[in-house]
Amino acid sequence: ESLVRTGADDIERAAEAALRPRRLEEFVGQRVVRDQLSLVLEAARNRGRAPDHVLLSGPPGLGKTTLAMIIAAELGASLRITSGPAIQHAGDLAAVLSSLEEGEVLFIDEIHRLARPAEELLYVAMEDFRVDVVVGKGAGASAIPLSLPPFTVVGATTRAGLLPAPLRDRFGFTGHLDFYDADELERVLLRSAGLLGVSLAGEAAAEIASRSRGTPRIANRLLRRVRDWAEVRGDGTLSIEAARAALAVFEVDDRGLDRLDRAVLTALCTRFGGGPVGLTTLAVAVGEEPETVETVAEPFLFREGFVGRTPRGRIAMPAAWAHLGLDVPRDQGA
Ligand code: ATP
Repeated sequence: ESLVRTGADDIERAAEAALRPRRLEEFVGQRVVRDQLSLVLEAARNRGRAPDHVLLSGPPGLGKTTLAMIIAAELGASLRITSGPAIQHAGDLAAVLSSLEEGEVLFIDEIHRLARPAEELLYVAMEDFRVDVVVGKGAGASAIPLSLPPFTVVGATTRAGLLPAPLRDRFGFTGHLDFYDADELERVLLRSAGLLGVSLAGEAAAEIASRSRGTPRIANRLLRRVRDWAEVRGDGTLSIEAARAALAVFEVDDRGLDRLDRAVLTALCTRFGGGPVGLTTLAVAVGEEPETVETVAEPFLFREGFVGRTPRGRIAMPAAWAHLGLDVPRDQGA
């Protein structure tokens, strides 16, 4: 999988990494989680022990990976990074776990996608700091317990409810990340502009923030596109005009909806008459995986009241028709 990754993706990833806050105090917004984490971490530091395992939940791009890195940095510990989908077999996880050093932080992104056997191995490791290494095959196989030094798992998931209860229960602390408000995104943008060494007008920051879907990753990405526009077609300054022109080129509309969001709304309203329609059918109609539609587009569309959820599927809300410039059909009760 990693062999076919395109160069453009790598460049975006590197650009993103350069803008990551390194310490908790640099992390903008999410006051509740920040307060809770700073307590958990300080208590652990004072005791000289690894803190409880931490679960972070919330939509993509709100800072789960960043927080995992910050947790390790605040503890002065090193960080190991893996993800649910990257662990194919329980043996892969056993290998990672048995190589951990005392106090290390193990970040497992998309932890809800771990396969069942790996998940079971993880419970035991998290609770008893032990892995059972299986030696031999079939009837002659035996499990040799191997004890592990204390370590901290930081798990990330788009929804805590996706985790089976036994795994969820192994986390001593769960932090829920929510969408950022416009003020917070403006602060993220001004900080990023400073790091990039570009001058960002206050009005431009507000404009970009209002179209970033409550998501720092999107805010930073749009900032880089506005910078591209300003450098190539403008005079290099990130003015409000540059912001508007760039966002028009990249098809980010005034509410921050991008191509996928609009495709979902358009399919829902025009192909399915406003619904209700099931997630899978909707995803096929826009040519995406159901998980992408569900985790990337929908949380924002639900929150902004464009789409509603009913037991029979998704429905278009009046705001969706209005946003697309369509009349709400007569028979739509929504
Ligand atoms: P995913 O689950 O998709 O990995 P994520 O929630 O882990 O997403 P991150 O990769 O941590 O998201 O963050 C995305 C980008 O947003 C990073 O480049 C980071 O710089 C920026 N960012 C996230 N949260 C904040 C914040 N609170 N303050 C400043 N920048 C932030």
